[in-house]
Amino acid sequence: MSATIVSPRLMLVGGGSVKELAGVLAKFGLSRPLVVTDPYLVRSGLVRRCLEPLEAAGINAAVFSDTVPEPTDTVIDAGAALLQAGLYDCLIGFGGGSPIDTAKAMSILAHGRATGAGSHMRDFKTPVQADAAGLPVIAIPTTAGTGSEATRFTVITDTERGEKMLIAGMGALPLAAVVDYELTFTVPKRITADTGVDSLTHALEAYVSKRANPYSDTQALAAMALIGANLRTAYAEPDNAPAREAMMLGAMQAGIAFTSSSVALVHGMSRPIGAAFHVPHGLSNAMLLPAITRFGLEAAQGRYAEAARHIGFADRADADAIAAEKLADGLAQLNQDLDVPMPGGFGIEKAAWDARLELMADQALASGSPSNNPRVPSKAEIVALYRVVWSGNR
Ligand code: NAD
Repeated sequence: MSATIVSPRLMLVGGGSVKELAGVLAKFGLSRPLVVTDPYLVRSGLVRRCLEPLEAAGINAAVFSDTVPEPTDTVIDAGAALLQAGLYDCLIGFGGGSPIDTAKAMSILAHGRATGAGSHMRDFKTPVQADAAGLPVIAIPTTAGTGSEATRFTVITDTERGEKMLIAGMGALPLAAVVDYELTFTVPKRITADTGVDSLTHALEAYVSKRANPYSDTQALAAMALIGANLRTAYAEPDNAPAREAMMLGAMQAGIAFTSSSVALVHGMSRPIGAAFHVPHGLSNAMLLPAITRFGLEAAQGRYAEAARHIGFADRADADAIAAEKLADGLAQLNQDLDVPMPGGFGIEKAAWDARLELMADQALASGSPSNNPRVPSKAEIVALYRVVWSGNR
């Protein structure tokens, strides 16, 4: 079977690279951007880091900042309407995964409406291939991170049906990415931890996925080594530049890895938690990661063992069986070190959790992600795993 390798046409990576944003637009003949960001990044002034280099080049960008964390179809509706009414020639997604995903989805929906391919985000949900988009997206991540700057995915919540939809296809792949770790110094501790575990999950799932390939493997292993060595430092020392730089690079490589391979069971089970209980994406991944990893260990022991060695939980002297066990234990310990709350600690009521188990399991299976897992679970096993996670996940 062939592997499908995709990535943005241009990626500018390094401290201060956002200052070169106008040059990136110029390379593609673009000059009328709509910057999609979030209200906090406007209030805090961080968005100026993106606007100033444009202004210096004579480009006055419009800004759409009515985005929400874990973007919804209603926000995309409003954003797409704005796109259709304006004379823009590109979108700049500036922020964490939420604004970047919003920009991608706005482009897909506006194009779908213009061509009659679809009128609601739901029309582009997997297994539909969202390959067509209108305006190109330039992604500038400010968290490390979702890797969305390098992926062919966007995740949008269907507010009517209470479902986090995965939208996949070339239409969601940015034209270019500017990856500047200096934008991440202000990320608060909780978000540093959650987004860092998100990227670790991307790399690990890409590596153990049934759709892994030699290219995604190189990216996933490199990402795991960077994240494993630096996540705790970035969490404890927000101003530590080498740790922030390594995390940004690791998150990007993890994105490249899973967009050329896939995510798996953790992500399949994570999206329903986010949709039901408004748990941020990285945090719901973190809650699940140790238990779901333990569930799959025997089905891909060699791969899990190699992951453990790259993250730094095991070494070369450990036999595969030992190293794989160390992975699950190490992930549980990492959660403790990063003060990751479990569902009860996050404030979810047990009765509410139990009442959603069947629906969450159905949604997890319907997303397709669990079928990429080394051990493919039944619905009953997914329900049982959600119960394990509730009970403490160790
Ligand atoms: P986010 O974009 O929702 O941001 C979280 C919070 O961090 C916000 O309040 C934001 O204002 C703040 N923030 C962002 N950058 C900051 C900075 N530099 N300094 C201070 N505060 C900052 O969080 P996220 O975890 O980056 O993105 C989550 C979203 O990404 C979810 O919707 C998830 O489903 C999606 N996602 C997408 C992909 C993909 O491939 N498209 C992959 C993984 C996750």
